[in-house]
Amino acid sequence: MLQNEMLPESSCSVERSFEVLGGAWTFLVLREALFDGVVQFDGFQSNLGIARESLKRVLRRLVRHGVLEQRSLNPEGLRKGYFLTNQGRGLLPALVAALNWGEDWASDGSTPERLIHKECGHKLKNAIVCSHCHQPVDPRDVSFESRIKRRSKGREKFAKMRYVEQALLERQRPCSIARAMATIGDPWSFLIIRECFYGIRRFDAFQHRLSIASNILTARLKRLVSAEVLRTAPVPDYPHRSEYRLTEKGLALYAVPLAIIAWGDKWLAGSKGPPLLLTHKSCGHQFSVELRCRSCEMAVTLDDIAYQASA
Ligand SMILES: [Zn+2]
Ligand SMILES: [Zn+2]
Repeated sequence: MLQNEMLPESSCSVERSFEVLGGAWTFLVLREALFDGVVQFDGFQSNLGIARESLKRVLRRLVRHGVLEQRSLNPEGLRKGYFLTNQGRGLLPALVAALNWGEDWASDGSTPERLIHKECGHKLKNAIVCSHCHQPVDPRDVSFESRIKRRSKGREKFAKMRYVEQALLERQRPCSIARAMATIGDPWSFLIIRECFYGIRRFDAFQHRLSIASNILTARLKRLVSAEVLRTAPVPDYPHRSEYRLTEKGLALYAVPLAIIAWGDKWLAGSKGPPLLLTHKSCGHQFSVELRCRSCEMAVTLDDIAYQASA
């Protein structure tokens, strides 16, 4: 578990990054943009089989937060497309992490797609590493230090955001990212899992830190337990009470929130600088998340990756 010297109160850019990304469809829209180079509304719509209104909402949110930008598709400027900004391309590690987790923990035995490092031809796997020492980051080996002490407000809007069933997410094609998102892909679940990585275990602590209604928290925790991401355990010295702990399956998720936190720190922090400092305890340095091929040790960018969907 992540040990923090000082437990961070929810801090702004980190919060915002989960708000921008929270939602299963958002990840699938990003999958289309990053791996398939989709830029047109109709392309997203037909590839995903998503309702037009839902797609409009996702695209609007991604444009508002600088992940996508609208540009003309032709010189006359009549048709506009949605193009990834550099900030949007920076989400690659989060997508790779979600895909890898879906492959390892939410598979039905098939491998719906592969990410190949073009340079060496190997599959991209466990590629989230510490930017300083280039070693894979173990969730038990990171400490957080918060530089901002305040809680954010206004989460009521999350209450309306619901789970999207896996069958719907995979309507057009099977995908490990969709499988991961069917398990964790709503904003509240994301935030609960993030809190678990901060070391939070008890119902009232989740409730206090997230300002979440108790019925919603109860439902989300129940779902995460049935998905075997969390398990309940008796509280030491209070045998009638139970707390929530990450299972191995849950711990394996670490790279997803870590990549999102690192992205938020880099792109949404503004002039105040990152609200969270991540320290890789085994090398002792502050780090951000980096993508690196484990086979050839080279840093990997979007242009170095081939996305191969199984037929
Ligand atoms: Zn390191
Ligand atoms: Zn390689």
